[in-house]
Amino acid sequence: MHPVPRVILKAKRARPFFGMHPWVFAGAIDGVEGEPRDGDVVDLVSDTGNFIARGFFNSQSKIRVRLCTWSADETLDADFFRRKLQNAIRLRREILGLTESCRLVFSEADGLSGLTVEQFERWLVVQFTSLAMAQRKDTIADLLMELLQPAGIYLRTERGVGQLEGLELRDGPLRGETPAIVPITENGLRIQVHLTEGQKTGYYLDQRDNRQVVARLAIGRRMLDAFCYSGGFALHAARAGATAVVGIDSSEAALTLARANAELNGLTNVAFEKSDVFDRLDRLVADREKFGVIVLDPPKFARSGSAVDEALRGYRRLIVQAIKLLEPDGILVMCCCSGLIERQGIHDLIAEVSAQARRALQILESRGASPDHPVSAHCPETSYLKCVICRVA
Ligand code: SAH
Repeated sequence: MHPVPRVILKAKRARPFFGMHPWVFAGAIDGVEGEPRDGDVVDLVSDTGNFIARGFFNSQSKIRVRLCTWSADETLDADFFRRKLQNAIRLRREILGLTESCRLVFSEADGLSGLTVEQFERWLVVQFTSLAMAQRKDTIADLLMELLQPAGIYLRTERGVGQLEGLELRDGPLRGETPAIVPITENGLRIQVHLTEGQKTGYYLDQRDNRQVVARLAIGRRMLDAFCYSGGFALHAARAGATAVVGIDSSEAALTLARANAELNGLTNVAFEKSDVFDRLDRLVADREKFGVIVLDPPKFARSGSAVDEALRGYRRLIVQAIKLLEPDGILVMCCCSGLIERQGIHDLIAEVSAQARRALQILESRGASPDHPVSAHCPETSYLKCVICRVA
């Protein structure tokens, strides 16, 4: 058998990989033996030549090797992918009991770095964020057909990933046919998901459980859903019995979906407006408006380490204004989906801003994503979503 090319670590750099972290950055590598092509299988060995793990090589990515197995006997072939996919599906179907719409595969959290699969009723949306997964897209699509028999599989690409990984992919159908819009059911609400043109894979499934929790706190109160996209939080609160809900987003396409969703569910106590949230919050403060609940769910402000400080300034501005808009005993829901900003950083920010405003703040729950977006204990980067629910005196 042709020997697997080897990536040799520098001395004293093996610890994270014995700890099963899946990303080997260029800086940890001493040398490469055997001329692997990008996307090929390689073995990771210590400076003394001991096998540590096996994964996929990419000279064009900062993540030079994405590790997939720590067993020297396991081959990374179609059977490997079948086992991994079956394992991921078992979590959703058998352990969590999710059958309709959910994230079926979450990249590193399911041991498949660079592959995300979402189920929207009878259709699947896949995203490849590593070159190795993209090269194996036919194998993966065939296996998904075999294991799940979806009506169609649609490929969505993520902005910026092409450059990071040296990938060339275009959105489009991979198997079967996929309608542009699919209505899904979330916590009993009907939600239209735009599979081919919606943001990301069409819908933010990660906030499913948080929407339910926030809705209960909004009963009998006026709520502001800032960065509402297709209305997830707003619709849940309106149905639960909020007196009035306002959703704000800057995307007309998102608002069209949000309004259609309100109608689909017969909800008349919710309105959606197109505005820049920062400007709109300033105006609401100037007009002395008050809300019982404010949800802030901005997009990822920090995409790289150097952007963290600026991102924190953005979050600070949002929290400062939201606290001014909250009536006594108001509920602040601060979400942050940037993996580069830690939970403690958000807690510290909330503490600082509320102290400056002399409003005592209690954190009622500090939540993450729904469990179909599990956190790999070996890859803390999979814990990206923070949803901090607070009472502001
Ligand atoms: N809360 C949503 C998800 C929000 S995603 C849900 O539960 O599904 C972030 C949203 O912020 C996107 O819809 C994007 O269009 C919007 N957005 C980004 N920058 C904005 C800005 N400055 N003002 C208003 N909306 C903005």
